[in-house]
Amino acid sequence: MKVPLLDLQAQYEPIMSKVKAAIDEVIAENDFILGHQVKEFEDKMANYLGIKYAIGCASGTDALVLAVQATGIGADDEVITTPFTFFATASSIWRNGAKPRFVDINPGTFNLDVEKLEAAITDKTRAIMPVHLFGQACDMTRIMEIAEKYNLKVIEDNAQGIGCTWDGKMSCSFGDVGTLSFFPSKNLGAMGDGGMCLTNDEELALKLRQLRVHGENPKYYHKWVGLNSRLDTIQAAVLGVKLDYLSQWSEGRRANAAFYDEQLADIPQVKTPYIHPSAVSIYNQYTIYCENRDALIHHLKGKEIGCAIYYPLPLHLQECFAELGYKKGDFPMAEKASQSVLSLPIYPELTDAQKSYVVEAIKEFYQG
Ligand SMILES: *Cc1c(COP(=O)(O)O)cnc(C)c1O
Repeated sequence: MKVPLLDLQAQYEPIMSKVKAAIDEVIAENDFILGHQVKEFEDKMANYLGIKYAIGCASGTDALVLAVQATGIGADDEVITTPFTFFATASSIWRNGAKPRFVDINPGTFNLDVEKLEAAITDKTRAIMPVHLFGQACDMTRIMEIAEKYNLKVIEDNAQGIGCTWDGKMSCSFGDVGTLSFFPSKNLGAMGDGGMCLTNDEELALKLRQLRVHGENPKYYHKWVGLNSRLDTIQAAVLGVKLDYLSQWSEGRRANAAFYDEQLADIPQVKTPYIHPSAVSIYNQYTIYCENRDALIHHLKGKEIGCAIYYPLPLHLQECFAELGYKKGDFPMAEKASQSVLSLPIYPELTDAQKSYVVEAIKEFYQG
């Protein structure tokens, strides 16, 4: 039986006629750059997350780059973040001339360890960039307390956390700016690249809106050096259709996670994901710790079960960040995670037979 890590075919099949109709409308109107569908989707997304302003842009990476620039962070500044995340989290800081300063993760949640945060603050620190990794929100209560105490900005990298909550409140709504990615493998994926910034701050929203069109206002008059980074009208039309299904898809992912949690509980070589009692995860990934990982991957691949390592090398050990001066051993929890994590298929369209097949394959590997 084939169980891919993600099955976009299965996702699109039931909604394809609506998606195609939305695309056809854009083609008929020829309004390809910032057409009305962009504004409509921005409003719909803002409403979904309960945040005032949404600014669509070309990718989740650009959303972060724009957020860092909009909050006034640049040369000589430091931004505290996690080394156990996708590359774009730290590159967005770097691209603005600032330096990422890493803090180790909590090995349970995989998120930035709030107990270690304060010790990393220096007189150059301007912001904290928490990442709601794998769909689970960070401890935003503690992060906002520390940010207020030291007068720091907070930019939430919510590329993997769309719709997840902390203490009943949506991620993206705690800090100064939150960002989304609509990369096809995210919980709300476009048919290409796309991203978004969200904020409750009217001034920041205005600045972000200008920064995505070269920093111009009015046209051909530039207050800042911005980007060319718009959410494509066709992508906005597709996403507008798909957003109606997001809550139901998140429920499906949680149900699948509950199944795995129960079925994998008695395998001593596997540790299922820990979700903090204040967090509701949307499981962008279902990520386990496992022993003998490479052999397990080989076993699963042989049975046509998709799986992946997010992430094999923490960011403090990436070649391009060598001049930051970090070395192996600096963040043992992130390093340990990168050695033993594995993400399993969790997408909502998984059938009962597929889920059982995954569980049986893992049991067979460890228990024979
Ligand atoms: C996917 C992702 C991004 C970047 O999003 P793109 O749309 O691929 O540019 C940034 N941060 C995290 C944590 C991500 O998972």
